[in-house]
Amino acid sequence: MTLFDSSAFEGHEGVHAFTDEKSGLKSIIAVHSTARGPAAGGCRMWPYADAEAALTDALRLSRAMSFKNAMADLDLGGGKAVIIGDARTAKSPALFEAFGACVEQLGGRYWTAEDVGVSPADLTHARQRTRYVAGLEGHKAASGDPSPVTAEGVFRGLQLCVRRALNRDLDGVRVAIQGVGHVGGYLAEKLHAAGAKLILTDVNAEVLHDVAKRTGAEVVAPGAIFDAECDVFAPCALGGAINPTTLPRIKAKVIAGAANNQLADGDTGRAVFDHGMLYAPDYVINGGGIINVAAEIRALEVDAAFDPAWVDAKLDRLMLTLEEVLDRAAAENRPTHEVANEIAQARITLAAEKKKAAA
Ligand code: NAD
Repeated sequence: MTLFDSSAFEGHEGVHAFTDEKSGLKSIIAVHSTARGPAAGGCRMWPYADAEAALTDALRLSRAMSFKNAMADLDLGGGKAVIIGDARTAKSPALFEAFGACVEQLGGRYWTAEDVGVSPADLTHARQRTRYVAGLEGHKAASGDPSPVTAEGVFRGLQLCVRRALNRDLDGVRVAIQGVGHVGGYLAEKLHAAGAKLILTDVNAEVLHDVAKRTGAEVVAPGAIFDAECDVFAPCALGGAINPTTLPRIKAKVIAGAANNQLADGDTGRAVFDHGMLYAPDYVINGGGIINVAAEIRALEVDAAFDPAWVDAKLDRLMLTLEEVLDRAAAENRPTHEVANEIAQARITLAAEKKKAAA
């Protein structure tokens, strides 16, 4: 199979592969759509087994960004960059400067930001070579750490799902959180403050015990989180947490968390629905972070200051979109992820048609 007929490539406007011999950079930037505006999505640094694995990840993530940005009602399309390498050992200022030069070559069709393995400090080096970088610190447009905003969106979305599926508020609701890093940690604190009973896990024992201490939570081993007696399962670690092996073990009635690509595939989403669970589509519920980043892009484009009120308004609107997804899924008796995909695709298609008509 060639790239052009692979299902991952479908719908992409372009895929760009870059190398820089001097710094050792190997990077792929996938631009899924610019229909709603410049493609935006973070840069991930990961020790992919080979270039094909990196390409597949870039394509999957960039498409997800188009959907996420559309659902967050942002004037942004979807794109994603990956750098092949181990973030613990292979980073250098030269590597990120070279990456910045790659972003610059796309002439503003793609805005980059942080993702797994990439920090604001790394992006400072990329900024030397391009202005299309958000997620930097120390300037008036800077948006800072997106994690608290992501956690706020996940918290509100989770609360909404609990009301719908369990007809109750969060007091006494048992929530199992997989991964208590940046987002999971803030989420745990918010849930604790709302009276939820927490069961937490993380592969990082230090972080886990720290969050558990602050939130009076029960702690379980990473593999045991799927067997937890809980009402809500909140995947906040890596993708693929909900798959044919884990799903039969999950007792929750609601799945709502921060992780990207929680469902192993569409069939798993259908199985979640058949199990009678309410799933909050990941790219809807976790859109707070990109809203925060979008506020920075918006401010940078017009040389203005970061506007937290704009972020709040977009987050409120995101929750209305989640309600729309849940309402339609309930009315049509269909899986939420299918309905979300349709709404997102319709928003992108409409923007593309408008753009074409205006051209
Ligand atoms: P993070 O790296 O700070 O936290 C992830 C945590 O999960 C870490 O503490 C890690 O040790 C733990 N973990 C990894 N594998 C695990 C496993 N198998 N079992 C248990 N714990 C495991 O990342 P984050 O910024 O909190 O993001 C969490 C998820 O949310 C990611 O999937 C990310 O892509 C997604 N997300 C984050 C944001 C944001 O604003 N940070 C926005 C949207 C989506």
